[in-house]
Amino acid sequence: MNLTQKFNPNLDRIAISLIRQFDQQVSSIPDIIKLTLGEPDFYTPEHVKQAGIAAIENNQSHYTGMAGLLELRQAASEFMNKKYGLSYAAEDEILVTVGVTEAISSVLLSILVAGDEVLIPAPAYPGYEPLITLAGGSLVEIDTRANDFVLTPEMLEQAIVEREGKVKAVILNYPANPTGVTYNRGQIKALAEVLKKHEVFVIADEVYSELNYTDQPHVSIAEYAPEQTIVLNGLSKSHAMTGWRIGLIFAARELVAQIIKTHQYLVTSASTQSQFAAIEALKNGADDALPMKKEYLKRRDYIIEKMSDLGFKIIEPDGAFYIFAKIPADLEQDSFKFAVDFAKENAVAIIPGIAFGQYGEGFVRLSYAASMDVIEQAMARLTDYITQKRP
Ligand code: PLP
Repeated sequence: MNLTQKFNPNLDRIAISLIRQFDQQVSSIPDIIKLTLGEPDFYTPEHVKQAGIAAIENNQSHYTGMAGLLELRQAASEFMNKKYGLSYAAEDEILVTVGVTEAISSVLLSILVAGDEVLIPAPAYPGYEPLITLAGGSLVEIDTRANDFVLTPEMLEQAIVEREGKVKAVILNYPANPTGVTYNRGQIKALAEVLKKHEVFVIADEVYSELNYTDQPHVSIAEYAPEQTIVLNGLSKSHAMTGWRIGLIFAARELVAQIIKTHQYLVTSASTQSQFAAIEALKNGADDALPMKKEYLKRRDYIIEKMSDLGFKIIEPDGAFYIFAKIPADLEQDSFKFAVDFAKENAVAIIPGIAFGQYGEGFVRLSYAASMDVIEQAMARLTDYITQKRP
């Protein structure tokens, strides 16, 4: 009997994550500093923790309805309205998910069939492709390198028209992981104008919406293309709640009515205690991200200064908590080799750009979700490494 051959053959098309491969190679290095993490180094705000504790003590230990607690959906509806001017009905236009990760899975598995294509500006977060592949579809990357990683309406239009009929969805993740790119109102409006001409879903992963460093607020593409947009957001980054696993889907009720079928059979419902904590976060913690943002900004500017001095080219990130830096031309351009060598020689782990797709080659991603002390040490080690490589 060889049951391994009986699995869904699409699984064979899912490669082992390069981030995981990299981690395996470097994690046993003694005293290694990791600037690899995609999660806040802050603790969940105290008032939110207390709400979670109270939920446990009050025996909130049952399933919730599959869409999530109504009170949480109401809080989410108000939060989206106050922050981003969006109107979603708590009753049937919002779903509570197990992090944005489950939102991505539920949405992609609900909309895709074999042969479908999904467009994404690249380099991009590697969490989408495996699910697209599992559903028998394929991810098509739009190369944004020539425009400092910013997708233009022209690029988008060309990509959709070239593949007309095959494209089922476009994923827009902004502020973006790994590049930190975000879009202002004018840019979002122009992208929406293109999208509205085509019958495609827009999956807007806005999980970093509260970590926008520009002087203009985050603008959701749902404001301009409401019929076709499925907004994904959550509390992992805004409230330092990665481990609580709470995400949210916002979409027109006809779309939610379909997605909920997948969500129901994947997870039933998100953790009940976490949902109670999330109510508190959204109702009374609308500004919880502000102190974190202030700290991230200091770290971002420090890293940019240090790395620019060493010859890395960096486009100033406008959001999230990552630096995506071009490796100087006189050094190893294979990002995997560069990152492994740096880790082995000077004990700092940073993510090779190739982990974010073919257009990430030649770059490295550093997370500044680490304390300033740790970042200072890492920059000192990077300076030593580069000095030693340059005769
Ligand atoms: N989307 C993007 C772009 C991310 O960077 C991440 C996490 O790093 C996620 C989704 C997953 O978020 P969650 O913790 O809510 O599952």
